[in-house]
Amino acid sequence: MSRLRIGALAALALLTGCATLGGANYYSVDDEWQAGRQLEDQLARQLPLTNDRTLTRYINDIGQRMARQTELGDRPWRFYVVRDDAINAFNVPGGLVYINTGLIAQVGSASELAGAIAHEVAHGVARHGTQRLSAANELNQVAGAIGLGGGAEGLAAQIAAQGAFASFSRRDEREADRLGVQIMARSGWDPDGLADLLERLASAERGGGVAFFRTHPLSSDRMQDVRQLARRYDGQRLVRDDRQFDNVRRRARQL
Ligand SMILES: [Zn+2]
Repeated sequence: MSRLRIGALAALALLTGCATLGGANYYSVDDEWQAGRQLEDQLARQLPLTNDRTLTRYINDIGQRMARQTELGDRPWRFYVVRDDAINAFNVPGGLVYINTGLIAQVGSASELAGAIAHEVAHGVARHGTQRLSAANELNQVAGAIGLGGGAEGLAAQIAAQGAFASFSRRDEREADRLGVQIMARSGWDPDGLADLLERLASAERGGGVAFFRTHPLSSDRMQDVRQLARRYDGQRLVRDDRQFDNVRRRARQL
């Protein structure tokens, strides 16, 4: 995309207020996924990832099956467990999902954990990370100068500069919850798990310090919305918990 075109888009964005925010994405899926490979290497050096086989295999089995149910299921996805007590999980553009041991240690069932993974996959499928970068660039009118459309290299650098753990908007959260519920049901999980997870974290948040809500803002109607979406799948045989989960959570608590 030319610099002129970016300038025009930026001007349009200013004229129409925030009408385009959260909408346009100027990055191709190919560039995003290529940038993802670079970010994956970078994060492997920066984050305390665990290689506990039980944990990584469990998270990967759930995550890969979920990713395959989505429109970006033919792209490579990677799921990692981070040794970090903060209750958090995050998606990085290019099919990367990171789940903290702190979150695994706190959830009450396998479907709550599956809810966290589905929500992150949903952010990735909706491409919220690069969408927010597109919107920020529009508003800053610096897109041309910092190399918007400068390929995967430029994109990886921008994502790293913005912070891989950039927080999402409430609108992004609503979309990720809605998509997450679908992804769960399609891959055999009871989507009430996502509502259970949000309720559990919201009550923990009253004591303060649930990192998940710094990056995934909580709104008052969020839990009810998810519960209502999940109701559509009532009566289907979906998994609420599994036998491996206790062992997985125990290991996460020990790490
Ligand atoms: Zn979120």
